[in-house]
Amino acid sequence: MKHFDSELSRRLAAIRKQNLFRELRRVDSPQSPRIQAGGKTVLNFSSNDYLGLANHPVLREAAIKAVENYGAGTGASRLICGSLKPFHELEEALADFKRTQAALSFSTGYATAIGTICALLDRDDVIILDKLVHACIVDAARLSGAKLRVFRHNDLNDLEDKLKWANSLTKAAIGKRKAQILVITESIFSMDGVAAPLKEMVGLKNKFGAWLMVDEAHATGILGHCGRGLADEFGVGDQIEVQMGTLGKALGAGGGYICGSRLLIEFLVNRARSFIFSTAPVPAAAAAALAGIQIVQSSEGDDRRSQLRSRIAEFHSHSTKQTRQTPGAIIPVVLGNEVEALNAAEQLAGRGIFVPAIRYPTVARGKARLRLTLTASHSSSDVGALVQALDEIVNHKS
Ligand SMILES: *Cc1c(COP(=O)(O)O)cnc(C)c1O
Repeated sequence: MKHFDSELSRRLAAIRKQNLFRELRRVDSPQSPRIQAGGKTVLNFSSNDYLGLANHPVLREAAIKAVENYGAGTGASRLICGSLKPFHELEEALADFKRTQAALSFSTGYATAIGTICALLDRDDVIILDKLVHACIVDAARLSGAKLRVFRHNDLNDLEDKLKWANSLTKAAIGKRKAQILVITESIFSMDGVAAPLKEMVGLKNKFGAWLMVDEAHATGILGHCGRGLADEFGVGDQIEVQMGTLGKALGAGGGYICGSRLLIEFLVNRARSFIFSTAPVPAAAAAALAGIQIVQSSEGDDRRSQLRSRIAEFHSHSTKQTRQTPGAIIPVVLGNEVEALNAAEQLAGRGIFVPAIRYPTVARGKARLRLTLTASHSSSDVGALVQALDEIVNHKS
């Protein structure tokens, strides 16, 4: 035990020394524009609850009803002890929402990526990733054992080069089945807020006979008709083999999903290990997510999206500094140095404003930043307070 403790202390000291130490910040209230933390009320610009649904009365009520009807827990994996109705209702609604044949929900977005990518590809295959994809996709790609290549962020020429390389490799492969290429990107990137060129990527993957997986975690609920996502906005939803998303961001609940063909979903039920070997999420999560999807597609969803767009426009019009305009609700303020980002976050906290400092390994070393997220529930004066505090504190470069 003594050796264990001293080894961990040594490792933690190294993390601290690099200004990369993290700790949990306790919050005593629901997610909303104002949260209770450390005995104070703070203005919250840290959450991915873009439409303000996480504490919406309709989602709360749906979760409570699900507990009353189906209990708190699920007992086992859905393949073992039966698959509760709220999951089927959720998956039908997801497939309808995304205009696909079928959908499958997972306990988290992380588990979705791990289960799906490892089910579809193995060591004989090739995975090609955008440089900035989420850690869960990187981890899944590594775990799959497939040959891994990374293309420069949103760089179609570099993607094409990697596809050419992979194509020569897969053609040459001799074995039980032809090697497969999977290209993976996010539609709106989680830490930069920029969009992927999905139309062009669809063209490229078709040219090389590759498959495409798109993670819409930060576009679902916000972009496209009724909030269906960026693939819908670009009109390419039906050409993406694997459409992934999460239920814990704009949809206000928690979990992850894959939408696609009926065969894809049948295959995942048989082969996605994070689905098969994991207890089903609590029924309350599925019921809340279903209520979230219904609101997102309603006129209230339209209203909330337009409020969100107004708040973002206000931020950009009032900010005296040049901040890159992004299509979603993520506004990165890149500071570079880790200490600078931590100091800025601390000074904002001192003024009662909660914005996280994002550091390595969430972003590259030397690309530390404040990651601001606006939501439909913020008021104009909330945004005004944020802009003023940023103007006073931060001398940023993006
Ligand atoms: C949040 C996120 C995930 C993980 O989803 P969880 O439900 O939080 O596990 C996956 N991909 C992207 C792009 C994300 O931002």
